[in-house]
Amino acid sequence: MKQSVSYVCLVGHEKEDIPINVVRDFDLMDDGDPTTPSMFSCEKCGVEMYPEYYKGIHGIEYKISDIR
Ligand SMILES: [Zn+2]
Repeated sequence: MKQSVSYVCLVGHEKEDIPINVVRDFDLMDDGDPTTPSMFSCEKCGVEMYPEYYKGIHGIEYKISDIR
């Protein structure tokens, strides 16, 4: 099983691997809109990053190809 989630910068081409347990922790704390995944900020440009592929704790799948 993959132990990290690849997050992709929405304006640049940076990628960052976020450990799966960190993403899940954010998921658990996030009681907001379940249609948006836990987001992290790009260290280079400060904009939001979107998961390349991630299936959330509520069973919803998020793919960068859905928003690009
Ligand atoms: Zn960036």
